[in-house]
Amino acid sequence: MCFVQIVVLAGGTGGARFLRGVRAAEPGAEITAVVNTGDDVTMHGLRICPDLDTVVYTLGGGIDEERGWGRAGESWTVKEELAAYGADPDWFGLGDRDLATHLIRTRMLDAGYPLSAVTAALADRWQPGVTVLPMSDQRVETHVVVDDPETGRPRAIHFQEWWVRHRAALDASAFVQVGVDAARPAPGVVEAFATADAVLVAPSNPVVSIGTILGVPGLREALLATPARIAGVSPIVGGAVVRGMADRCLPVLDIEVSAEGVGRHYGARSDGGLLDAWLVAPGDPADVAGVDVRQVPLLMSDPETTAALARAALDAAGV
Ligand code: GDP
Ligand code: CA
Repeated sequence: MCFVQIVVLAGGTGGARFLRGVRAAEPGAEITAVVNTGDDVTMHGLRICPDLDTVVYTLGGGIDEERGWGRAGESWTVKEELAAYGADPDWFGLGDRDLATHLIRTRMLDAGYPLSAVTAALADRWQPGVTVLPMSDQRVETHVVVDDPETGRPRAIHFQEWWVRHRAALDASAFVQVGVDAARPAPGVVEAFATADAVLVAPSNPVVSIGTILGVPGLREALLATPARIAGVSPIVGGAVVRGMADRCLPVLDIEVSAEGVGRHYGARSDGGLLDAWLVAPGDPADVAGVDVRQVPLLMSDPETTAALARAALDAAGV
């Protein structure tokens, strides 16, 4: 049997929703998600992988749909108890159900299993219907350089502190991938690119999701060596983010907050960039030299439109 093999680069919410569409659009395909782990963080001694969990919970039917992260039917007893002790950090939402995931992950990592194996073990419960790979087994953490509100001097804080605690209100001057020099693509990533029939770049944050994945040494080269066409989907619609903080990240890299700006940032594959095709919303004309730009409704508001978007991305990738 010969299945269509699809690889998707994904962050959290935008990536997870898009993956659900790809799964619906091409039943029977072998889908591999290469997921950002730059948001990963250790809190209260537990290793937390927000984007991996969002992807696995979303595809496995365990996500809180409204929030877009964490578990449906969540309770917050442990968080309240930690707050009663005055335990820091108190700004990160750790639900009781979610905690079980982090406990198992931490225990397995401590026992010496690599993150890719831990992710596979956790996915065994959720049966996401796609192979979920971390971008790397090595620890890579995105830090954000901001002016310390107290001292006025530059300081690097973890991405989660910038986004969850400060709601991205502190101006960033740089994003730093701590640990990236020692990272390698996780087992299966390079192989997935090598045998792919289509590679899709999800409408995820171009800087702190897709940019972080592409920063893993060797990953970009393996991606560009794929025999498949690479089609990307814009996370920017009508000059604004749909949700999240990409509009706070893009200017830091001098990228215009527009479908055209992100398309040009990714660039044409024929010109040293990434893209063979680029999907933008109707009314968002984008001129990206050397790239097949297509206008398609981009809002993943319900399963049907999301599957139609994924179908259009697969068409653009020639599958
Ligand atoms: P995060 O890790 O949770 O921040 O999620 P991602 O990096 O995967 O995705 C965040 C990006 O998804 C944001 O830049 C949003 O603009 C984009 N996004 C969210 N929902 C939609 C949607 O329905 N359509 C499109 N095109 N982009 C979306
Ligand atoms: Ca994320």
